Amino acid sequence: MRTIQGIPASPGIAIGVAFQFLDDEEPTIPRYAVTERELDGEWDRFVVAVDKSKDDVTALRDRAVREMGHEHGAIFDAHLLMLDDPEVLEAIEYSLRESLLNIEWIVHQYEQAIIKRLEGLSDPVLQERTVDVHDITRRILNHLMFRERFSLADLNTDVVLVARNLLPSDMIAMNRTKVKAIAMDAGGKTSHTAILARAFEIPAVLGLGGVGRTIKNGDVVVVDGNIGDIKIDPDTLTLERYEKVRARMAERDVNLSSLVGLPARTLDGKDVLIKANIEVPEETDSVLRHGAEGIGLFRSEFLFLQPGRAPSEEAQYSAYRRVIESMGGRPVTIRTLDVGGDKVVPDLAIEEEKNPLLGWRAIRYCLSDSELFQNQLRAILRASAYGDARIMFPMISGPVELDAALAALEEAKEECRTRGQAFRADMPVGIMIEVPSAALIADILATKVDFFSIGTNDLIQYTIAVDRGNEKVAYLHEPFHPAVLRLIKRVIDDGHAAGITVSMCGEMASDPFAAVVLLGLGLDEFSMSAVSVPDVKRTIRSVSFEEAQAVALEALTMTSHHATETFLAQRLSGRVSRE
Ligand code: PEP
Ligand code: MG
Repeated sequence: MRTIQGIPASPGIAIGVAFQFLDDEEPTIPRYAVTERELDGEWDRFVVAVDKSKDDVTALRDRAVREMGHEHGAIFDAHLLMLDDPEVLEAIEYSLRESLLNIEWIVHQYEQAIIKRLEGLSDPVLQERTVDVHDITRRILNHLMFRERFSLADLNTDVVLVARNLLPSDMIAMNRTKVKAIAMDAGGKTSHTAILARAFEIPAVLGLGGVGRTIKNGDVVVVDGNIGDIKIDPDTLTLERYEKVRARMAERDVNLSSLVGLPARTLDGKDVLIKANIEVPEETDSVLRHGAEGIGLFRSEFLFLQPGRAPSEEAQYSAYRRVIESMGGRPVTIRTLDVGGDKVVPDLAIEEEKNPLLGWRAIRYCLSDSELFQNQLRAILRASAYGDARIMFPMISGPVELDAALAALEEAKEECRTRGQAFRADMPVGIMIEVPSAALIADILATKVDFFSIGTNDLIQYTIAVDRGNEKVAYLHEPFHPAVLRLIKRVIDDGHAAGITVSMCGEMASDPFAAVVLLGLGLDEFSMSAVSVPDVKRTIRSVSFEEAQAVALEALTMTSHHATETFLAQRLSGRVSRE
């Protein structure tokens, strides 16, 4: 048995037989001289191959739109734009006529040059766009060389898909019912493969480097998408262990699924709301299946992470509307674009900054790009006519920023009125509380909005001065740090004093121990990834509000994160589990 380690990109465990998607191997590209008289013939071959590629991509785009909505068609629209780009076509024709070499070689050289340029950029998301360039050129080359691709749509047995680099078109085209897990050499957490794997609930380990290639066709493998490791040819004991873990997880899922229709009500009858966080519209099925009572955070920036243009007002409107409609009247909170910092969007001109986490990000970026912000605000407003939508601004640090965001929203409403477009005039407006300055003046901010949502991922980062993405200081990202607990209490108290709802959509809300403390502090709503919803619901249902209040009071007297952890482990032992 061998173990290889990659990036945990989509949770879950799968045991299966490896299928190497060898079709993504590089073909050998022929290189030979052509005469002046043959040049037109070479160019004609290229034009035919480009036309065939456009047909392929159009068919894929139509399928993606049909099955997954307009925003996923954007990937292929971007491919079509590249196939039609006169600059690209001119450059290829020029180099064909200059070098007198066959067209396959010219296309290959052109691809290499573009990829080299993209790889030279420091932005990892821009680097990931090499995938799209490769997708297009490979398609043209396959047509030029009459190389038929094996389509992952034809998979007819269960497999663990092992690949060097699945392209966006592979993910859309593949027979998803047969892919039990994905193991891939390339890719990071924000790559298309990761985003789509999570949306499709397929466990995935990415970023394996060349090591993924050592998995052979037919090998039995265990893919653990929770921790990011893969066991190749597991011994009987390991297999038995994983089978047990899987059985336990399945049993737990069945037990938890009995909670789906039940309210998150404490033993003494206090109700809170448990909602889910989503990144892509396809997740709404999973949200409903896990019994969430709404969407507390739709991270709209993931619509912008698709390569190609930033999504148009229409594309955004259709994505938001689809989410709102599929939630059937349940509340949906759409957060405006939270870019910058760790979330880099390929098509937005965000320069490299010395301190990106303290820089031109989220609401700061939106307020400086009025066209982009107005497009998004109008799209959200228009979608609000189709259900219970709410809007939320990220990274608000003070009243000036908030006032500017509220004014921008008024401007967008005015434009919708002028255009005669319907929207919900009293759509609730809220803010993320994720910057300590906002937490400390929650009383002032509370007078201007309808709700708060505490974003502990960032609030902890900024309070403790600990980069949430740096594994070397990850041990300092402490939800029970006394400073964090005091800030949370303050935000809840100030929100309630002003009569507004206080929610939490940071990861902390999904920890059963923290849930008891938060309940006791009076938090009204919890929002988390769909898979965590049943656990937290079970936790809320297993304690009384009175007890949670006592636990919270005592937690606030603790002098360290560790002391609070130990206290909670003892106090909740046997009733609240973190498994
Ligand atoms: C947070 O900061 O807690 C949050 C929910 O926002 P994100 O993780 O998207 O930054
Ligand atoms: Mg945040």
